[in-house]
Amino acid sequence: MTEVSVAKDSVAATDELVVLKSVNKHFGALHVLQDIDLTITRGEVVVVIGPSGSGKSTLCRTINRLETIDAGEILIDGKSLPQEGKELARLRADVGMVFQSFNLFAHKTVLENVMLGQIKVRRTDKQKAEEKARALLDRVGVGTQADKYPAQLSGGQQQRVAIARALAMDPKVILFDEPTSALDPEMINEVLEVMQQLARDGMTMVVVTHEMGFARSAANRVVFMADGRIVEEATPEQFFSAPRSDRAKDFLSKIL
Ligand code: ADP
Ligand code: MG
Repeated sequence: MTEVSVAKDSVAATDELVVLKSVNKHFGALHVLQDIDLTITRGEVVVVIGPSGSGKSTLCRTINRLETIDAGEILIDGKSLPQEGKELARLRADVGMVFQSFNLFAHKTVLENVMLGQIKVRRTDKQKAEEKARALLDRVGVGTQADKYPAQLSGGQQQRVAIARALAMDPKVILFDEPTSALDPEMINEVLEVMQQLARDGMTMVVVTHEMGFARSAANRVVFMADGRIVEEATPEQFFSAPRSDRAKDFLSKIL
């Protein structure tokens, strides 16, 4: 059964979806990312936590080249991200991003927000893009809002549109940078529930969040950052019950 073993091998070879090798980045004198080694496998949900200013957002932004790096390497599904050009746009589209501040296009309707990238980057025809956008808006529970503008929606609804927009590109991984931090408390759960469902569906996710309930229930792994370094990595059970580093113990004592 040569065919079967070949297929297995090819799956194993691409199992590492996001690989950061000795990634270093400075902002002037600030060494914001220091020797970051991180491998995220297909289907894994990694929650990144750590104090404000520890480099979590910068880490996310380097993964899809919203920020350049000074040294090291980042591989997405086995491919190194090029510096620029069409190849970068295509590879970047494999990495979805959901921001704290939603970042929807204010002058486009909800439906147009979810169609745009499909048409511009994925070259999907308009009718297919609209069908997919409507299906995704239904999936995140905002199908009836399709013709409104972002400002007419609640924060929780806008963030669910942002998730639909990310999904519309068929990303291999989605990065969430504090997706619920800007939301009123009563809207946090409706966004976390959509994210929980994505995790159950097998989406590969990197989630920067202070929502420890989400980390406990959805994460395969917790990565704790401080001062630009990964200080500790563990399962949520291990991390929350018995953090090893003093930095993590101190951090948890403040937020739990
Ligand atoms: P976190 O998301 O963990 O709060 P950030 O990645 O946003 O941390 O920031 C890490 C450090 O880098 C902070 O000290 C921040 O002030 C600094 N920083 C972030 N972005 C820039 C930038 N574009 N220019 C200069 N310094 C920056
Ligand atoms: Mg941040």
